[in-house]
Amino acid sequence: MKTIAIAIDGPAGAGKSTIAKLIADKLHIYYLDTGAMYRAVALKVLREGLDPTNHQQVISILPSTHIGVIYQDGFQRVYLDGEDVTHLLRQPEVAKAASAVAVIPEVRIKLVELQRSIAQNYSVVIDGRDIGTFVLPNADKKFYLTATLEERARRRWLEMQEKGYDQSLEEVKRELEARDRNDMGRAFAPLRKAEDAILIDTTGKSIDQVVNEVWGYLTDISADGR
Ligand code: C5P
Repeated sequence: MKTIAIAIDGPAGAGKSTIAKLIADKLHIYYLDTGAMYRAVALKVLREGLDPTNHQQVISILPSTHIGVIYQDGFQRVYLDGEDVTHLLRQPEVAKAASAVAVIPEVRIKLVELQRSIAQNYSVVIDGRDIGTFVLPNADKKFYLTATLEERARRRWLEMQEKGYDQSLEEVKRELEARDRNDMGRAFAPLRKAEDAILIDTTGKSIDQVVNEVWGYLTDISADGR
């Protein structure tokens, strides 16, 4: 059976993962979270005591770094050198380091290869920054989700509170701004809307509203590949 791919790009906090998961469920296909792969590389860099902004240091550990993605009960689990690190990837310092290592072309090339091979084997809703522009330019449908910085910061702050991380709203906002700058300003596969992506501003909208909006564009898509 032909696999399908639905690409959802946009800045951090725009609602990509929430929406991607729900849409994947409705279509009975997998949700592929590419940010988790960058976070796994970042975790390794931090564990090795290296500087995530030092390209040579990061590149030096890539050949001995193995990132694996498997699906368990429908959920993505990320393995770093054989260890399931899924539960460690949402920490704020890992997010910050992920955005630093993500500017390094060698890191991206390694992870994009993995992303493409998964998308070749499974039907996926895949979220990230460069999916529609670089990873899967021929995706069946592309969305670009965005929201104001204030709203994205508020959402991320609430998520952090729920997870027990003690960060102020101001701090979260500053970190989001820095990640936006890194993501949009990098030379290799920066964050931008693909020309053929559907733009959805999620500011002030409920999750249900956004899911319905996205769903409305998927009437010609049918899949069941989980
Ligand atoms: O989406 P998430 O916040 O988990 O991504 C973590 C970081 O990984 C982002 O800040 C971004 O810099 C990077 N990333 C990327 N390309 C992707 C997915 C994530 O550069 N496709």
